[in-house]
Amino acid sequence: MWAAYRYELLKLSTILFSGGIVGWIIKEPSMGLCLGLLLYLSRHLYQLLVLHRKLRKKRHLQQPFPKGLWGIIYKNIYYYQQNGRKRKRNLTRFVARFRDATSTVPDAVVILDQRLRVIWANPATPVLLGFNPSLIDKSSILDLVNDPSLAEYIHSGTYSQPLEMTPAHNGALVLSVQITPFGAKKRQRLLVARDITQVYHLHQIRKDFVANVSHELRTPLTAINGYMENLQDMPTLPVAMQHPLRRIHVQITRMTALINDLLALSRLEVETKAAKRIPLNVGEMLDSIILEAKTQHADCSIELVADYDLWIRAGESELHSAISNLILNAIKHNPSGTKIAVRWYAGYNGPVLSVQDTGEGIAPEHIPRLTERFYRVDKGRSRISGGTGLGLAIVKHVLNRHEAKLFIASTLGQGSTFTCQFPKAARYTAVSITPHHATGQRQ
Ligand code: ADP
Repeated sequence: MWAAYRYELLKLSTILFSGGIVGWIIKEPSMGLCLGLLLYLSRHLYQLLVLHRKLRKKRHLQQPFPKGLWGIIYKNIYYYQQNGRKRKRNLTRFVARFRDATSTVPDAVVILDQRLRVIWANPATPVLLGFNPSLIDKSSILDLVNDPSLAEYIHSGTYSQPLEMTPAHNGALVLSVQITPFGAKKRQRLLVARDITQVYHLHQIRKDFVANVSHELRTPLTAINGYMENLQDMPTLPVAMQHPLRRIHVQITRMTALINDLLALSRLEVETKAAKRIPLNVGEMLDSIILEAKTQHADCSIELVADYDLWIRAGESELHSAISNLILNAIKHNPSGTKIAVRWYAGYNGPVLSVQDTGEGIAPEHIPRLTERFYRVDKGRSRISGGTGLGLAIVKHVLNRHEAKLFIASTLGQGSTFTCQFPKAARYTAVSITPHHATGQRQ
């Protein structure tokens, strides 16, 4: 480096000295110095032009390089070019490996730009998504696949859950589509479509089996129950038979409850379409559910604070079943007389329903598993209280179908709070809501 500076200084001094001598000879020393400077500048200008031409032609610089400062500049550019070439080689190798890997993957892998145009897709794409990546010219995925559910999924912007869809070009296929945003500002998207036809059918067979068995069992059970009630009412019934018949009746009632819950759950699972959503006055629904609960459990203490102007769009019977389950759980799984508070209000993130009790509470290790089918904290006690272990699974399913979430908070010995958070979009506002309904408190 210093050698280059020294060389440059020596060059400048030699040219100026020569210019000075020429000036002294022609008796115009300043003219001589100017000529020297001009010569020095012309040399730099020439080197600049040579370099510019080489770079413009994208030529790789070759040794030997000029001496002095220009040599250093040439060397630096040379190293940048070498590194660039290495990076390019690595990138090309990486892209080739990526293509090899994705071409063997049975899933369709598609890269979309920020305007949802297909930039690249792997060879599995024609079979699964029905378009040939080599024949398209940056068309939008929405035009190529033409499926309203895919369009809705892409525009929703929330990709935590995959989308299940059947592509229009092959009705026998069931795909699980997952999108991952990537790149600057996460505007590009990676779409992966997986063939889940087999798993889906197995799932369907299992669901249908449960639904069919439950359905087939319901009729004979109803008949047995009828005969049992007739038998119990018979005045000539021997006393020794009364107790066993009562026990049989309790077991039949339990089985009927279990079958009804199984049927409700499998109906929720089999129904892929959302329930017909109608505007519902949840406050009034809560009134009727609480009234019903009080007629069945006279000793329960339920307080309701509800915003009667807060309506939502929901499936009526599904919502009724979810709310009943939460309120009946608070009664069933706690000592009689436990205080239960039900709240219905407009929260910051949307309408909220909470059912709070001051009962026994649930130990933290059970809370994440409560919505699993047949999961009961205390199996024996749940059976005695008429529980099937399916109630909270039904609640979770119903809420999922309404894009709502269930939160469970509980402390042993202090009680539990089950909170349903509905999305803001579920709220129904219409001029027709009568103004006399304000937030009310009922006991
Ligand atoms: P079950 O039919 O037994 O009520 P659920 O799925 O509704 O089934 O509830 C699962 C379990 O969660 C219950 O068995 C009970 O142990 C517990 N649980 C639910 N709600 C409450 C509550 N409010 N207080 C205490 N435990 C509860």
